[in-house]
Amino acid sequence: MSTVLVVEDEARIASFVSKGLRAAGLSVEVTGSGRQAVARACQEGIDLILLDVGLPDVDGFEVLERIRGQGVSTPVIMLTARSSVEDRVAGLSGGADDYVAKPFAFEELLARVRLRMRPQGREPGGGSATRLTHRDLVLDLRTRRILADGSWRDLSAREFALAETFMRNAGMVLSREQLLGAVWGIDFDPGSNVVDVYVSYLRSKIGRERLETVRGMGYRLV
Ligand code: CA
Repeated sequence: MSTVLVVEDEARIASFVSKGLRAAGLSVEVTGSGRQAVARACQEGIDLILLDVGLPDVDGFEVLERIRGQGVSTPVIMLTARSSVEDRVAGLSGGADDYVAKPFAFEELLARVRLRMRPQGREPGGGSATRLTHRDLVLDLRTRRILADGSWRDLSAREFALAETFMRNAGMVLSREQLLGAVWGIDFDPGSNVVDVYVSYLRSKIGRERLETVRGMGYRLV
């Protein structure tokens, strides 16, 4: 399993991001300290680093400089509320691989994480990391298509994120709030019916009966 080191001192964001990454099947370690981040990044076992710029002790750019100075080549995605061009240039020229400005939707962050994640050479057969299966459903994480009833169907970005969340939690009831957080991001209006709308889109692609409505609770992939 790939491990992401989340370096973020804001508890709400750290918790939101790590929950989402875990739901997406990744292992997560969290620290709010730049110094601890440098120490951890220089050890084995981290496949990608999400690095906040504003940290209480050593700022994100300094952390990046130190770990690259130690010869650590682990992919780094910088997170910051500051979206100025100077920050972007500083982050990328300092050895960051990508840059995500806050506020962001979780889906966008996850897409970047997947793109930048160091390839896993240890998966037996090489195929298990790129496809999720549940009964006769197959979700291809690279092409972002789903196989249902023997044919491949294209998915929009949101449909894909929703399908992935259901596939990784097959058989479990997922509430609208959980789905909103995983697919649309923490700041989305919880009163919105967007989840129901996208569940109906997904049903039209994979078959209505596969996504069960659990009255008063949410939805379940059966
Ligand atoms: Ca911060």
